[in-house]
Amino acid sequence: MTELQNFIDGRLQPAASGEWIDNIEPATGKPYSRIPRSGAADVERAVESAKRAYPGWAAMPIEERSACLTRLSQAVEAHADEWAVAEARDNGKPVGLAKEVDMKRSASNLAFFATAIQHFASEAHIPSGPVHINYTHRKPIGVVGCISPWNLPLYLFTWKVAPALAAGNCVVAKPSEVTPMTAYLLSTCIEAAGFPPGVFNVVHGLGPEAGEAIVTHPDIKALSFTGGTATGAHIQRATAGTFKKLSLELGGKNAAIVFADSDLEDALRTTVRSSFANQGQICLCSSRILIERSVYAEFRDRLVEKARNMSPGDPLEAGTKMGAVVSEAHRDKILAAITRAEADGGTILAGGSAATAPNARCADGYFVQPTVIEGVPSTCDLNQQEVFGPVISLMPFDTEEEALALANSTDYGLSATVWTQDLKRAHRVAAHLETGIVWVNCWLVRDLRTPFGGVKSSGVGREGGFEALRFFTEPQNVCIQL
Ligand code: NDP
Repeated sequence: MTELQNFIDGRLQPAASGEWIDNIEPATGKPYSRIPRSGAADVERAVESAKRAYPGWAAMPIEERSACLTRLSQAVEAHADEWAVAEARDNGKPVGLAKEVDMKRSASNLAFFATAIQHFASEAHIPSGPVHINYTHRKPIGVVGCISPWNLPLYLFTWKVAPALAAGNCVVAKPSEVTPMTAYLLSTCIEAAGFPPGVFNVVHGLGPEAGEAIVTHPDIKALSFTGGTATGAHIQRATAGTFKKLSLELGGKNAAIVFADSDLEDALRTTVRSSFANQGQICLCSSRILIERSVYAEFRDRLVEKARNMSPGDPLEAGTKMGAVVSEAHRDKILAAITRAEADGGTILAGGSAATAPNARCADGYFVQPTVIEGVPSTCDLNQQEVFGPVISLMPFDTEEEALALANSTDYGLSATVWTQDLKRAHRVAAHLETGIVWVNCWLVRDLRTPFGGVKSSGVGREGGFEALRFFTEPQNVCIQL
């Protein structure tokens, strides 16, 4: 069985405890590798190494830091085929999706911030009255922590570490223990990309052990976290009073609002994708589909037909469009949410249970049918709590006001999608949606320069583009008397 290692102080190494955690392949339900069960001692080692490396890395000319990130991006590109298979095996996602989306975005995250830092500048206020000028110096913070979830493993890992490193910080990063493989593979390329020892450390292990040690370490001055809302709230509590800088990208309960005047064909095709892509395990997936009543029956019937025609396949087969969900516990959580929705009055129109395994290799894997449910009141769990699986709820509406009230009726506020051909309505509805991101007539189009993040219980802070570089720097104002 492959043994993954931590990457600390420029060296691959096991956990100080000598303990291991089995890493299970979701499509087969069987362990296929193991990861170091790291804890406070490993994080301490990583932080000490990062502190030693920091002065040199922060002082390094931007072009040289940028070149390290560019070489790491090229390593992702060079290994894309092999790492896409690794990602599919580790996470259960289709290998085609891993290659087209995860590997491409991971490479572009690194390449983007390699160049973004060369264009990043801060403000000067000249003149500031007759005899003063002010300029703002954006300094790296020091040692920062990056904690990422399992749904888009390398994609979200690189989304965090790239701006942190580009801005001149040293990083202690932890991928989810559920999907550690591609972060490990990336860590085997860090040295060859030219990063000095200690600049970029990767520590594997459980959230409440290795993760908690990163969160609570007094020398880690900023923390970028993507994961569930409950974990985000825990991190806020655990760091209260420490004045650490926090960026929290949390869960979502995203609405897709389909107005009768939309291009229904386009709305339908994209809604199938936004509902079931990556088995519904994208924080930006639409899980509540609000449909104007005059087209409700038609849209519902066509969506249901498409969902019934989809079935999960072996993630490692090239033609697979839907794979396994990430773990047994997660499959059971999704199935429990479906059972609760039925108890709350919902009618299952498609799916509703675990899916049969696509082949003998996957006999013990974790597969869920794409599931469409209608008739659940908007106040019930299905429409309020994140399921994070291939499960959507359909709700009709009569007016724009009602659509907005339904869309805004959850504690979450990550993203929403609006389908209409009326430009004035598109602007009006977007302005009234309580979300950090709105797509009009499209979904998951992500320009890396744009701010990314949620409002309400979907998070605090923004990442993406210069917002990420602002998060990972501390502005110092200098005022000079002439
Ligand atoms: P979790 O919150 O369970 O875990 C996220 C990360 O935090 C993992 O690396 C986890 O480690 C770690 N962690 C868990 N407990 C602690 C702790 N006490 N201290 C420090 N770190 C900890 O989320 P999931 O991995 O289940 O990811 C799914 C969630 O992520 C969904 O809610 C989804 O909406 C959200 N998400 C949000 C996005 C956004 O941009 N807003 C994007 C993608 C996902 P381990 O796994 O090893 O326990």
